[in-house]
Formats: sequence, C-alpha cells, structure tokens
Amino acid sequence: MSKIKVTNPATGELIEEISMQSNAEIELAIKNGHQAFQKWSKLDAHERSRLIQAWSAKVQENKEELAKLMTLENGKPLNEARGEIDYSTAYLDWYAEEAKRVYGRTIPANTNSKRIIVTREPIGLVAAITPWNFPTAMMARKAAPALAAGCTFIVKPASETPLSGMKFIDYAYEVGIPKDVIQYVMGEGKVVGEIFTKSERIRKITFTGSTAVGKQLIANSSENIQHVTMELGGHAPLIVTEDADIELAVQQTVAAKFRNAGQTCVCANRIIVHESVVDEFTEKFASEVKKLEVGNGLKEGIDIGPIINEKGYNKIVEQIEDAIAKGAEALVGNQFQVDKEKGCFFVYPTVLKNVTTEMTIMHEETFGPVAPIVSYKTLEEAVELANSTPYGLAAYFFTNDYRVGHYLHDHLQFGIIGWNDGGPSAAHAPFGGMKESGLGREGGIEGIEPYLETKYLSIGGL
Ligand code: ADP
Repeated sequence: MSKIKVTNPATGELIEEISMQSNAEIELAIKNGHQAFQKWSKLDAHERSRLIQAWSAKVQENKEELAKLMTLENGKPLNEARGEIDYSTAYLDWYAEEAKRVYGRTIPANTNSKRIIVTREPIGLVAAITPWNFPTAMMARKAAPALAAGCTFIVKPASETPLSGMKFIDYAYEVGIPKDVIQYVMGEGKVVGEIFTKSERIRKITFTGSTAVGKQLIANSSENIQHVTMELGGHAPLIVTEDADIELAVQQTVAAKFRNAGQTCVCANRIIVHESVVDEFTEKFASEVKKLEVGNGLKEGIDIGPIINEKGYNKIVEQIEDAIAKGAEALVGNQFQVDKEKGCFFVYPTVLKNVTTEMTIMHEETFGPVAPIVSYKTLEEAVELANSTPYGLAAYFFTNDYRVGHYLHDHLQFGIIGWNDGGPSAAHAPFGGMKESGLGREGGIEGIEPYLETKYLSIGGL
C-alpha cells in the first residue's frame, strides 16, 4: 500500500508516514457516509447543534497541540496556527447556531383554499477536497455547515498537510459525532476527485484549491449533476488612494500580503498606489517589511515561515526574476535560503518597485511573500487595472474619502472587499469569489445554503 510522507517544510524532517486508501476503501467510506445520512439528517437540529458545539470546545481544549502539529506540517508561524484554530472553531460555533435556523416559509396561494409551504432539507452526502494552506479552517468552513444542515461529510485533505485536519476530525469523534457522519480519506487528488464525481451517492462537491483543478471538478461533476461550491484562485488588488492614511495602509498591507508567507488566495498580489503618495508608501512599507523575521515557525518571533514545496518556490522565484529582468527593482528581499535535498525553501519578504503590467506577477497569482508596487494617476485607471484579471476573490482599498470608498466598492468586481481593512475574512461573513475565483459562498447565513435542497408542498383545499 502506498504511503504519503508528511514532512516539516522548515527542516525537511519526516513527521509521519500515512497510508493512502485503496479505491475500494474510499468507495466503502462513501457507502457508509451515504447510509449514515439517513440517521444524521433525522437527528433534531438542536442535538446536531449541541454536538457541533461540543466539537468546537474539544478543539479549543487541545488548541496548543493542534497548532503545533499544524506548524510542523505547514510551516506557518505558531501564532498564525493558533489563529487558524480560533478561526476554525468560529465556523463550528457559527454553524452550530445556524443549524437551528434552517427556516422554511409559507407562500400566499392564488386561491384562498390552497396552502403552499416551503421546507429546506439537507442535500445528502457531501464530499470535500481541501488545500494545504489552511489545513483545518478550510475543513471547518465546509464540515460545519454540512453537519449543521444534516448532511454527512467526507473529506480528502491535502497530501502536504493531512495531519492537523485528521486530528481536527478526530476531536469530533471524541464528543460523539458518529464516525460515518464525518470521515477523511487519503489518496491522490486526481484519483479521489474522480471517485467523488463518479459517485451517485455524493450529492455535493465542495472544493478549495486551484482554478485549474476546480474547473476539472466542475466538468466531472456534471456526470451526476452534483451541486458544487468552488473556492479557487485569486489575484487581489490593493489600492492606496491619495487621501489614504498611509500608516494604516502600510500596517494593513503587511498583514494582507505576508500572512502565511503570502500563501493564501486572498493575499494582496498587486499593490496599486496613487502617484502622489507612492514614494512615501513604498518607503514606509519597505522599512516595515525589513523587520519581518524569516525562519522555523515553531520559534518565537518568526513572521514568515517556509514555502510549502519546491513547485511553489520555483513559481515565486520565476516571478521575481521576470519582474527584475523587465525593469523592476527589489527594495527588500530577493533573497532565498534553500536546501533542495531536505526540501526546505525560504523566500525573504520582497518588495518590488517600478513594476509594470508586462510583468508576470501582475497577471498570475504568486502565492508567496512578494509585494509588487505600481502607481496610478486616476481612480478609473486604478479600477481598470484592479479588474483586469480573470479572478475576483478579494480586493482591498485604503481611503478616508467616503465618496471614493463608495466608488471603489461599486466598481471593483470582487466577492470580498476590505476598506481600510487588511483582514476582512470572518466566519459570520460570506467568503467567496466572482469570475474564475469560484462559485458559491462559505460563511455567514449564505454558507449553509449550498447544503440545503428546497422542497415545496402545495395543499389543495375545499
Ligand atoms: P494547490 O496548488 O493549492 O496545492 P490544488 O488545486 O493542486 O492546489 O490542490 C488542492 C487540493 O486538490 C489538494 O487536496 C489536492 O490533493 C487536490 N487535487 C489536486 N489535483 C486534483 C484533481 N485533479 N482532482 C481532484 N483533486 C485534486
């Protein structure tokens, strides 16, 4: 049986070897999840809510242990891992409450004698595929509304970081959520993806990852008309206007750019600054970035951990080299610490100035700690530049002029917008993208919708 080697990206050390499941084992998990739906969907919502709450409390009780495991396999600084655990349980808490609010409605009929009643039902067995950059949060965001709605759930975690996600689910078992209600399976993404989309028992596919894989899953899900939720790539613009509070913009841009070493789909990827403040912003931003500490996330005081793997590292380096070859200047960074044999790749936070739209970094997601700065003259130009991407996940802007703020809010084609806010994501808000960034929303009252079917009953009268 083939195994997945889970290693620490900061040191190259082997953490654990885990077995991949055979296709037959994955099929059996699907069968069990499908069967378990009969019982779980009939459990009353208040009981499901209590179980999800208990799960959240159990995760919190074990926060340190789980955060440490996450840093070991993912590399993110320990404080960020702790933050991710809180963010994950926020989804459990929110949907434990929403479980009790799956309301129906009555519709006035066209004759007095008729009654029309609308009810909401759980969709069935849900299959999820999750990425390595947020090993527990991306699971929580999907599993919490699924279980709250009355669906059963099966997830394939990313092969780079399966351990913290598996442990996160183990805590659900400890509080009494039945094993077949929430399961994890390990296997190669492509293989498991095909098993999921070919299965008539699975009614919904929910995925967070690259746009390329998302497109494949959408195409394959047509075979059984499975519902899909897709949280895909991003290429976030961050606009700093002439009247912005520069100190605030600098501080929030550091957060929006360098969280998780720049490896998030909402990380600012294009920093678009008004020509009248670009020098001031660039200088202050570069001096803050210089202070960021790079290293093993388990050590106190580290801000930037390793890049997850060689593929990710190569992409970042290619984008920096391309920009410099085309005239960009690296004010900070453009330094690397690499041990290919061990599989350790560190990229020092890099600030690029004199960036132009000819450079690859202005068109492709970087997924790394590189901040390219371009300047603009008119607001229309800034909006055009910001929207000139197939992606539409997150955008940020900094202005203290409410008219400019409303203009940007109206014109930016992105699902999540931070106005003077570099961290807009929250369990109680509908996270998701437009255009090639995805389909559907996760979080907030919207986030439970994709796990529900609508049924209406028309009752004839006398
Ligand atoms: P990333 O570049 O962030 O790793 P991917 O889209 O490649 O993004 O991976 C996200 C998740 O999708 C992981 O769990 C991965 O194993 C899985 N995956 C990769 N390729 C496929 C595929 N062809 N079908 C289904 N899942 C896949």
